[in-house]
Amino acid sequence: MGKLIVLVLLVAVAVWLLRRALRSGQRDDIERTPPVHGELVSCAHCGVHLPRSEARTAGERLYCSEEHARLGPGRR
Ligand SMILES: [Zn+2]
Repeated sequence: MGKLIVLVLLVAVAVWLLRRALRSGQRDDIERTPPVHGELVSCAHCGVHLPRSEARTAGERLYCSEEHARLGPGRR
């Protein structure tokens, strides 16, 4: 009888570990997917929100227009 309880516990732990592994695997997939088209970013100069595909990149920052990229980060 004691052996049966140990066996049941082992199976339960195995199932729990398997489920956890599967769940974390799915989360990784979501994180790995590239930014979706239309994701909103904010201009580092004026703070306006625009789709990432339309944003200008200057260094690490994103801007809404060439002019704001030239002007650099605004005071916020
Ligand atoms: Zn701007």
